[in-house]
Parts: sequence; C-alpha cells; structure tokens
Amino acid sequence: MQYPKNLLQPIWEYLKKLETDLLTRKKQIAKEDPFADTARLNDNADDGTEAAEQFGHDQAEAMKGETDGVLSRVRGAMKRIDEGMYGKCMACGSMIDTDRLGIDPTAELCLSCAKKNNK
Ligand SMILES: [Zn+2]
Repeated sequence: MQYPKNLLQPIWEYLKKLETDLLTRKKQIAKEDPFADTARLNDNADDGTEAAEQFGHDQAEAMKGETDGVLSRVRGAMKRIDEGMYGKCMACGSMIDTDRLGIDPTAELCLSCAKKNNK
C-alpha cells in the first residue's frame, strides 16, 4: 500500500519549504558564529571576549548540528516520497499512522517501533 499522490504532494511541498527554511537558518547561524569572521581568530581580544566568542561559537555549532539533523530527516522524508516509500515504517514496513505523520511528517517509524526504539 502507498499513499496517493494527491495526499503526498502537499506533504512534499511542506517538506520542501521546511528544507528552504532550514537552509536559511543554517546561513543565519553561520553568520552569528563569532568564529565565522576568521580575522577575529588572530586578534588580541582579552580573555573575557575570547570566552564569550568561544561560547557563541559552541552555541552556533550546537544549533548547526541540530539544524543538520532536522534537515537530514526532512530530506529523507522527501526521498521516501520520491521512491514511493513514504509512510512506511523503516523498521517493520507497516504503514505509519496518518495522525502520527500529521504531527511529524518526517516520522520514520511506526508508533510501536518508535516506542521500542524509545524515540
Ligand atoms: Zn514499525
């Protein structure tokens, strides 16, 4: 069984928009990273400033990692739509509940498998 195209199309468009948003967000994060400006790395800023920059950089890295994680989920879901695999549990192959997909369109596992995986 597979979800019909007319149902998948809006999901695909939603994911595409999400992907664009995430890419914009990544650019924004990169801009906010104090280390993005490489000239600042060799400056003679005092310890306090350097600590603040390190913190800002660590935060930017963490946010970037988080955004990358969501991005790969979004892309995975779009790939599954293209391959006609969308909505199938990646662990057991049964159909994922539409309510579940409504809450998280990037869901890869059905509810019972997700519970088993403690996700
Ligand atoms: Zn499953």
